[in-house]
Amino acid sequence: MKTIIKKMGINGEGIGYIDRTPVFIPQTLIDEEVEFKVVKKEANYRVGKVEKILKKNPNRINPINKQEYSTGGFPYMICEYEEQVKYKEAYLKESLIKYAQINPKLISPLIKADKTTKYRNQLKLPFANVEGKLVTGMYQANSNYFTKIDISSIHEDGLERIRKKVVSILNEENYSAYNFKIKKGMRSLIIRGLDNQYQICLVTGEDEIKFSTIEKIMNIPNVVSLAQSINTEKKSVDLFGKKVQVLAGDKYMKFLLNGYELSVSVRSFFQLNTSQAEKLYQVVERFVPAKNDLIVESYSGIGAISLMVSHKAKEVIGIEEIKDAVTNANLNAHNNHLHNISFLCADAADKLLYLSKTKNIDTLIVDPPRSGLDVNMLACIMKSKIKNIVYVSCNPATLAKNLSILKNRYDVKEIIPIDMFPQTPHVECVVLLERK
Ligand code: SAH
Repeated sequence: MKTIIKKMGINGEGIGYIDRTPVFIPQTLIDEEVEFKVVKKEANYRVGKVEKILKKNPNRINPINKQEYSTGGFPYMICEYEEQVKYKEAYLKESLIKYAQINPKLISPLIKADKTTKYRNQLKLPFANVEGKLVTGMYQANSNYFTKIDISSIHEDGLERIRKKVVSILNEENYSAYNFKIKKGMRSLIIRGLDNQYQICLVTGEDEIKFSTIEKIMNIPNVVSLAQSINTEKKSVDLFGKKVQVLAGDKYMKFLLNGYELSVSVRSFFQLNTSQAEKLYQVVERFVPAKNDLIVESYSGIGAISLMVSHKAKEVIGIEEIKDAVTNANLNAHNNHLHNISFLCADAADKLLYLSKTKNIDTLIVDPPRSGLDVNMLACIMKSKIKNIVYVSCNPATLAKNLSILKNRYDVKEIIPIDMFPQTPHVECVVLLERK
C-alpha cells in the first residue's frame, strides 16, 4: 500500500491515511511518500510498517546512532534538528488548539537546544546478559526486546566514560543480570553527572555488593558516591525500590546552576538537560510577577525554582513528595542564604488544599510529572483565590486537558516551549495563567 505522510504522531511516527483512516507508520517523516504494509488493524486506525520510501523528506538524514535509533526511543534521529523543531512546535499547537481552544498567537517559537546530542546529565539503563557478559542497553517500548548500547549519542561524554568502567568492573567481579526466579542480579544502572562529579546507583535484586566492587567503583576518577536500591517488584513504574542505600561516598552531590549552589541526592529528581534547565528556570522566573506575599511551588524537587524566584516574594513554600528531595531543597535554601523559603514533604494536592484555606497565595508554580495535574489538584486550584499560575509542563496532551478546565477561571497569557530532549518527540513548555 502507498500513502503520503501528513503529520507526525506523539510517539514520533509519521501519520498517513488510507481513505479516511489514519495509519501510524514509524520511521517516516512529513511529506514522504511511502510503501508500507498494515501490521495492526484497529477499529479507527491502522499501524503500518514502512517497506520503501518512494519520496524522501529533504531533511532526512542517516540516524546519528543506529543502536539508539533502533530502540524506538529517539525517532527524530532520522531528521535534521530544524525539522525536529518544526514537528515539536506543530504538535504543541495542535494539542492546545484541539483540546483547549488556545489562541496559537500566545505560543512562542520553541527555545532550541544548544546541544542536540550528548545532552543528558543522567543515564538510566537496564542490564542484561548478552553472550555470557553483563551489558547495559535499552528495551524497546512495551516490549522485551533488548538492544545493547555500545555508545550513546544522548548521554554527556563523561557519563559514557563512567558507564564503561562500571560495567567492566561488574563483569570482573562476576555479577550477572537480574533473574526473576531467584530475585538476584543487576537490574538497572543509574549515573548522574553534574559539574564533573558522578553519583552512581545500582538497582539490584537481593544482592550484597562486595567490598572489592565498592572499592573499585569508588576509585574511578570523579565518582563521588555509590548507592544501591533493592527492587524485586515484578513490574515497577519506578526504577528504584523502596529504599536507596548509599554504600560509599557522600549522601548528596553539590553543583552550581544559574549562580546557585544546589545539592541533589540519588533519589531526588533533577532536570536531565542542564543547559536547557537554566533557560527553563529563567522563563519561570520572568513569568512570576514582581511582588508576592506568598509563592507556592508544587512538585518542587530539590527546590531550584523556589530559590530562583524567592527574591520576588515575602515567603516561598515548596511541596514535594520525595523525602530526600525535600531534605536537599531545605539545605539548598540554607546554603544560598535564602531565609524566606521552606519545603514540605507532602502530596501536592493535599498540602495545597490546606495552604489555600489558611493563607493567601499570590502565585502558584506547578511542575507536575507527565500525567499532569490530578483531579484533586485541579479542584483545589479552581476553588482557591490564587492569582497567578506558572505551569511547567512536559506533556502537551495532559497540559491541554488541564488547561481546558483551568481556562474557566484563568486567562492563558503566554506559552513558551523549550526543547529539553532533542532527537525525541518530547515537548516541554511554560504557561502563564492569570485569574479572570
Ligand atoms: N520543579 C522541579 C522538579 C520537577 S519534577 C525541578 O525543576 O527540578 C516533578 C517532581 O514532582 C518530582 O520531584 C516528583 O518527586 C514530584 N511529585 C510527583 N508527584 C507528586 C505529588 N503527587 N505530590 C508532590 N510531589 C510530587
